[in-house]
Amino acid sequence: MFLRTPTLRSGGLKLSYNSYGKSGSILILSNQFPIGGWFFYYIEIIITLKLLLSGGNMKKLLKISISIILFMGICFLLFEISKSRNFQFFGGLVNKAETEEKVAALTFDDGPGVNTEEVLEILREEEIKATFYLTGHEIEQHMDDAKRIAGEGHEIGNHSYSHTRMVLKSPSFIKDEIEKTDDLIRQTGYEGEIHFRPPYGKKLFFLPYYLYKQERKTILWNIEPESHPEIEGDADKITEHVAENIEPGSIILLHVMYESREESLDSVKKIISSLKEQGYHMTTVSELLKHQK
Ligand SMILES: [Zn+2]
Repeated sequence: MFLRTPTLRSGGLKLSYNSYGKSGSILILSNQFPIGGWFFYYIEIIITLKLLLSGGNMKKLLKISISIILFMGICFLLFEISKSRNFQFFGGLVNKAETEEKVAALTFDDGPGVNTEEVLEILREEEIKATFYLTGHEIEQHMDDAKRIAGEGHEIGNHSYSHTRMVLKSPSFIKDEIEKTDDLIRQTGYEGEIHFRPPYGKKLFFLPYYLYKQERKTILWNIEPESHPEIEGDADKITEHVAENIEPGSIILLHVMYESREESLDSVKKIISSLKEQGYHMTTVSELLKHQK
């Protein structure tokens, strides 16, 4: 509780006592900057500790303080869990395959977008199958591109309908986002298993629970070069980052569907060549998981 009593006086500090309440008031005075030669502006901040000094209220204050600290601690913990790459409350969370074989999966999030044909061409030339986590909304807008992705034998995953963070959302919202997108993915002609990748990698209670009930996997990643600002704007640095961090069973995340992602798009061919040089076989996430120990 604060009570402010500004006082203007020449020559020094004005001390005053404010018996705010009955007892236990603490008076803090600070001598502020001089204004003119003789005048000082004093700001008096009086902190009343009456609550602290009376027994019953002390307990109440302690309880409130502990509750606030606990609440903040739980919020922080849940926030960390919501973005964790290797833990969720329900079901299987995959960020890489547990294998010693030199296999890895290239995964492309969002879209289909304007660069779809270019990405497909690279994959065709390199004879590689990749995994595309598409949003329902964009499949609707670019159904022909989505059909092309399915037609060329790539894996398609569900990346929600509207690319909304699936945290603090109702179970019906989550169900609707996933099912609408599943339907659209099936319209592309894709027949394989549809895994789910949460937008922004965020999940908490309802999303993992829904997927667990449906016996579906949440697929994340263990290599994300674009999350490093000093790397994301340079195709060579992106490639270098992947080449240095690759390990058997890795799942690499890239965003290549939009015009703004030219460097990521340029890195695809380089990443494939670099990993091939290291003896890696590139495949889809579903195929990668078959290599698990
Ligand atoms: Zn996304």
